[in-house]
Amino acid sequence: MESKKESNFQKIIAHAKEYGFIYPSSDIYDGLSAVYDYGPTGCELKKNIKDYWWKSMTQMHQNIVGIDAAIFMHPTTWKASGHVDNFSDPMIDNKDSQKRYRVDHLIENYSSELEQKGLEKEARDLINLMDLHLKNEDFSALKALILSHNIKCQVSNTCNWTDIRQFNLMFKTEIGSVAEEANTLYLRPETAQGIFVNFLNVQKSSRLKLPFGIAQIGKAFRNEIVARQFIFRMREFEQMEMQFFIPPGTQKKWFEYWKETRLNWHLSLGTPHSKYQYKPHVKLAHYADAAVDIEFEFPFGFKEVEGIHSRTDYDLSRHQEFSKKKMTYFDPETNQHFIPYVIETSIGLDRMFLAILSQAYTEEPVPKEDGSTEERIVLKLPTKLAPYKLAIFPLTKKDGLPEIAQTIYKECQTSFYCFYEEKDSIGKRYRRQDAIGTPCCVTIDHQSKEDQTVTIRHRDTMLQERVAIKDLKMLINSYL
Ligand code: ATP
Repeated sequence: MESKKESNFQKIIAHAKEYGFIYPSSDIYDGLSAVYDYGPTGCELKKNIKDYWWKSMTQMHQNIVGIDAAIFMHPTTWKASGHVDNFSDPMIDNKDSQKRYRVDHLIENYSSELEQKGLEKEARDLINLMDLHLKNEDFSALKALILSHNIKCQVSNTCNWTDIRQFNLMFKTEIGSVAEEANTLYLRPETAQGIFVNFLNVQKSSRLKLPFGIAQIGKAFRNEIVARQFIFRMREFEQMEMQFFIPPGTQKKWFEYWKETRLNWHLSLGTPHSKYQYKPHVKLAHYADAAVDIEFEFPFGFKEVEGIHSRTDYDLSRHQEFSKKKMTYFDPETNQHFIPYVIETSIGLDRMFLAILSQAYTEEPVPKEDGSTEERIVLKLPTKLAPYKLAIFPLTKKDGLPEIAQTIYKECQTSFYCFYEEKDSIGKRYRRQDAIGTPCCVTIDHQSKEDQTVTIRHRDTMLQERVAIKDLKMLINSYL
């Protein structure tokens, strides 16, 4: 079962490359570990996911505005936020293979192995103990747990482990030409801090009253030690974050509100509810008083796609302390000055992309004319996210059919993305569009010249119908 899932995942990765969604970064140099590039279809799909999130946050909420802050920030930002001191994962090295593991991953993997052997209770007990030790930051107990279960390195197959150490995940770089400590910058490990340091600028310039939110989409960088699972865990990735500023004391209500609202956003894309679950955090981050993950069932199991965090007034208070600038909000109704509390919704764009891609990827048998069947690969993407909405095919390259097809292309391209192709049989052209998830294809044939109709073929049902050329644009728009 597990290996079927794994092979399915490998097929999705291969498909993503073959059809221009995702390539390894610097592919000609054999790639760069945990860094990926988005190709022509991939960048459209990614942009559509971004737009869908952005509109649902900003356009659909009167009290949420967007910003686009720089990746480089004053280095004190990261001292204030706690990332210099706290943004680290407990790691352990195997002395024989020199391979480094994140402790939670090492133990979780072993627990999955136990589960596969039918030892569910042992697997659960192990995770519970791990969570407890992680929460207490009791590294010797964690190491003892690894040794007592005889958890081995996958490479050396030994239990010759170092002590557990914390490893900071921030990338450092330098600004200017002199390499001094004062010139050290960090590549932001989260986009949130760009929002916090701009809190008052935005509040004042947009004349916003609590509660209000600030949304941002942008790159984040983490020196992930165990970088694996394709675009699930990258070193350079994109986040879509929204910080919602609220009066202190209302955080429970707003936490529940955003927890539910965000899950509904995921479900609005048509993914079945059973593919999602909440997972409350056991060990809270240094800034949080409540946190829950929204997990999606990836081909390798349920994993976090989005986090909802109740960040208290931690970030704004710390920035006030380090910058010596007031970060308070004046409430005209109560005549009080206070530092707002914050609920954060933080979703990884690349993880969302992987969730959408793996949910859409379908292999299914299709009947052939001779009664036998063949397999087709189809991406059943939500129409609003599909890279192309309509593919336009003249049946032949002559008899004036390409001219009609080009007229349709020009008419529709101002409203949505279209794909034009004249090569190969119609069947082959359909298959290629199935593989990139285009919801509709139209074929222009000789009858089109007589009665100004075309055949439209629907991706998921493969049903075909004749429609008038003049209705085509309206029809596709109605699907959007
Ligand atoms: P994980 O436990 O998987 O490392 P996290 O809890 O550290 O994730 P957050 O700090 O809550 O993640 O970041 C918010 C979101 O950013 C995550 O839900 C995830 O979708 C995304 N994200 C975090 N790290 C990465 C990464 N290395 N690659 C891709 N996306 C990431």
